[in-house]
Amino acid sequence: MAKTIAIANQKGGVGKTTTCVNLTCAMRKRGRRVLLVDCDPQGNSTSGMGVDKQTSPNCYDMMMNGAPAAACICHTKWGDVLPANMDLSGCTVELVHATEREFVMKRALEAVQGDYDYIFVDCPPSLELLTINALVAAQSVLIPVQCEYYALEGIADLMRTIKKCNQGLNPELTVQGIVMTMYDGRTKLSDQVVAEVRRFFGKKVYKTMIPRNVRLSEAPSHRKPAIAYDKESKGSRAYLRLAAELIKREEKAEKAAKEAAAAEGKHG
Ligand code: ADP
Ligand code: MG
Repeated sequence: MAKTIAIANQKGGVGKTTTCVNLTCAMRKRGRRVLLVDCDPQGNSTSGMGVDKQTSPNCYDMMMNGAPAAACICHTKWGDVLPANMDLSGCTVELVHATEREFVMKRALEAVQGDYDYIFVDCPPSLELLTINALVAAQSVLIPVQCEYYALEGIADLMRTIKKCNQGLNPELTVQGIVMTMYDGRTKLSDQVVAEVRRFFGKKVYKTMIPRNVRLSEAPSHRKPAIAYDKESKGSRAYLRLAAELIKREEKAEKAAKEAAAAEGKHG
């Protein structure tokens, strides 16, 4: 069964989409079966993976018109994509009176869980209903934090939202990890921000930091992940390392869970 990871931070421009697209591609390169669900009406993950934003059925049809997830999925060289465009913004209004409106994405994705190892959900820059749907569908949240002043501003709100999910909508939801983005080793500021975020989140912060790298920002205009556009760039290499680190941590956690279960079995 897939592990579903929401990539969220209600701040815009922190690298959510860049992380989604390149992690998807990197995980695929490491032999994992990956689906990227675009849950942002801006559709940047969709076009960033080379998929036409006008594609239908799409995420909106899945959530609002009962289109099966499998029918909405586009296959690309870099991983599968469930596309979105501006239509998706209609969900926020149209779902207001729906019963169990927070569970729409979770229910819709259940049918394809068995087809993937990882499902990444690219969230919009808000904590509203679309993001809540992603947080309910997910087992964990990966939070990109940009290396700049006020990096932690807003994170408290996100953490409160996660906690609120834990108390009702999704008790299992955890923080997968924090990835520092747009790191610039030449500035003191970047290191100060990293230190501050590490004080707050400790080991949850990945060792791998994503540097500020022009290749990462150029790639979307070529409609491909940076890893496909320039594999040797610093940005691409960082995302490949991030994928390796995520997988390694995941394997370690699985092993620990298995050992704990075995120990419990032994002791009754
Ligand atoms: P979000 O999805 O959080 O709004 P994006 O991933 O779209 O953020 O990134 C915002 C902008 O910054 C985009 O133009 C993107 O190409 C650029 N960008 C993201 N990460 C980097 C990076 N590490 N180095 C340089 N530019 C980046
Ligand atoms: Mg985005």
